[in-house]
Amino acid sequence: MERFVLVDRDGVINRRMVGGYVTAWEEFQFLPGVLEGLALLARHDVSAIVISNQAGVGKGLLTPAALEIITQSFLREVHQRGGRIRGVYYCPHRPEDACDCRKPKPGLIFQAQRRHGFRLHQTYLIGDSPTDLAAAQAAGCPALLIAENSAPPASLSPPAAQNVFTSLAEAARFVIAHPLDAQPLTPAPGSP
Ligand SMILES: [Mg+2]
Ligand SMILES: [Zn+2]
Repeated sequence: MERFVLVDRDGVINRRMVGGYVTAWEEFQFLPGVLEGLALLARHDVSAIVISNQAGVGKGLLTPAALEIITQSFLREVHQRGGRIRGVYYCPHRPEDACDCRKPKPGLIFQAQRRHGFRLHQTYLIGDSPTDLAAAQAAGCPALLIAENSAPPASLSPPAAQNVFTSLAEAARFVIAHPLDAQPLTPAPGSP
């Protein structure tokens, strides 16, 4: 049965632009192990859904059309390498727009959930920032953190930060080894 994993984009799939935004495909750089990790997930029937803030659109730093070219380009690369991304959900708004979809709000996760029908508490979200973890928590999704030095940011409380990985490939192996919908149901005491 197909399962899903929610994945942040910048800092998880591709290298973050320091202090800026990826505004062209030429600036999009896959992080090490990402293509292999997505292919590994696909072989285990786990599809990725991208959940990403792209306030650069609202700030006029990149057009929706430019963002769409970047999206189609990385999707083509991922799919050519055996990975599977079923959907890409962006918040284009600026922080001051006070929308419902910009992480740490869970709106993008709910949009994806309505379209794909997964169970929130059985779907991991993989992110690299406190706002990812906050959005996952608000939606009821278990969160996995990518941190380059495998130490969680000091701002994270211990329960939120217990699953920390250095790459998407490493997090993918955890997702496969710990499926959330394959737990045997424990019958309640005294049930027939
Ligand atoms: Mg990020
Ligand atoms: Zn938004």
